Amino acid sequence: MTGPGIHPEVRLSHTDAFTFRDWLATGQATALVPVGAFEQHGPHLPLGTDGLLSTAIAEAVARQTGARVAQPLTYGYKSQQKSGGGNHLPGTVSLDAVTLIGVTRCLVSSLLAQGVRHVVLLNGHYENYQFLYEGVDLALGDLGLSAEDGPSVVLLSYWDYVSEQTLGAVYPDGFPGWDIEHGGVLETSLMLHLEPGLVQLERAVDHPPAQLPRFDRLPVVAGRTPETGCLSAPTGSDAGKGRLMFEQVVADLSADLVAELGLAAGPA
Ligand code: ZN
Ligand code: MN
Repeated sequence: MTGPGIHPEVRLSHTDAFTFRDWLATGQATALVPVGAFEQHGPHLPLGTDGLLSTAIAEAVARQTGARVAQPLTYGYKSQQKSGGGNHLPGTVSLDAVTLIGVTRCLVSSLLAQGVRHVVLLNGHYENYQFLYEGVDLALGDLGLSAEDGPSVVLLSYWDYVSEQTLGAVYPDGFPGWDIEHGGVLETSLMLHLEPGLVQLERAVDHPPAQLPRFDRLPVVAGRTPETGCLSAPTGSDAGKGRLMFEQVVADLSADLVAELGLAAGPA
């Protein structure tokens, strides 16, 4: 039951209330909130891929920094055709923007009101970002927080931590771009490293990257999304690439949080 992404000791869901109180009392409690989606990822990856990956990264970062992982938010904003294949596809169950903003606002307000010093939203679903940002901004307004040296919120999408050097190793034939990395080499390789039992590589289909217009059209023209629901093929994915990306992202993100929030470096 243990693997690179399964660390119950850093999960607040596995922590009792009195231990939680002691953690708050340190005055330096940092909660990582993984965010994902319920979204089709082609025939070879599970619907919860985005949240499984953000949670695994959060757990590894928590182990490096002494932070803790709050319960993940495993629904996300609507899948868009040019980044997730589209919200019309079976297997995609989404929140609207108002709801995601509201949920984010409540979670951030509640965690900070409890005495958490810093909240880190670790996003794993492309379409979420601006709505998470808005929820954070509204929560800080609710709490009247504006001091630079006080409680704060950090927001990021994990793929922004993949370095140029790592990209070169993972995509020897050229990088297709983060927006169409849906069900492709990034997510498939990470899943092969972290959750290999949930990947059905024999069902993966090779096809050219999706050719999508510069505009969005609604209702979506369904035929523009490749049959697989993936925007780029997982061809060339392997666990070694997943491990390379995972370890580099965890190291660089941990270093950033140590520097930015004054967390402890090294295994907790
Ligand atoms: Zn995804
Ligand atoms: Mn997604």
